[in-house]
Amino acid sequence: MKRTILWDFDGTLARREGVWSGALLQALDQHCPGHGLCRDDIHPRIVHGFPWHYPETAHTHLNRPERWWRQLCDHLAWVFRDLGYEAELAETLARTTRIIYTDATSFRLYDDTVPALEALRAAGWRHVILSNHVPELPNLVRELGLLPLFDDVISSALIGYEKPHPEAFAAALRAVGLRAAGDPDEVWMVGDNAVADVQGAEAVGIPAILVRREGEARHRCEDLWGVVELLAEGR
Ligand SMILES: [Mg+2]
Repeated sequence: MKRTILWDFDGTLARREGVWSGALLQALDQHCPGHGLCRDDIHPRIVHGFPWHYPETAHTHLNRPERWWRQLCDHLAWVFRDLGYEAELAETLARTTRIIYTDATSFRLYDDTVPALEALRAAGWRHVILSNHVPELPNLVRELGLLPLFDDVISSALIGYEKPHPEAFAAALRAVGLRAAGDPDEVWMVGDNAVADVQGAEAVGIPAILVRREGEARHRCEDLWGVVELLAEGR
């Protein structure tokens, strides 16, 4: 029997300073120095318009990086126009945001990420990333030096389904040769989002662990060492 852990990426294995707001502000710093805008100006405009805000909707027609980014850049350009920038500059800012967001040097691994993944691997677990993310996620994972630890890296952008959609979890199971949870291998999901990661996994029969965040969950760990302990003990 093989044992598999499906991992969320952002907020679980790594974090990007400022997340999306930070990337948009960096684009403004680059093209419009002295813009005077802050996160609070950006944030309300990016709580919608991204694929993961509509997880009930499949987007398999966007399963190519250029198509995916064209759709997202339409929204990002709207954000910049709504902040008062003219259309051509808004397009440029949107394109720059893409370059900034997909730069791996902006991401930092948590201190426990690599040692905990290695400890779990030594204990017989294989690892797969299942993340609501950009098409370039596999490249980000490679540049962060994590790729050798993972059997597969699955980004929602490339499969057309966002967690907690059941098909996102089905795609991850198929990637490691499983038809369904508990068939017959042991599979767990680990992530920092109580809805996308924990409720989504549990809805398709995959037990899940909420990490790094407060929240309602059957299994919750402060950090990834807690995951190592919990999975060593068994359920
Ligand atoms: Mg996350």
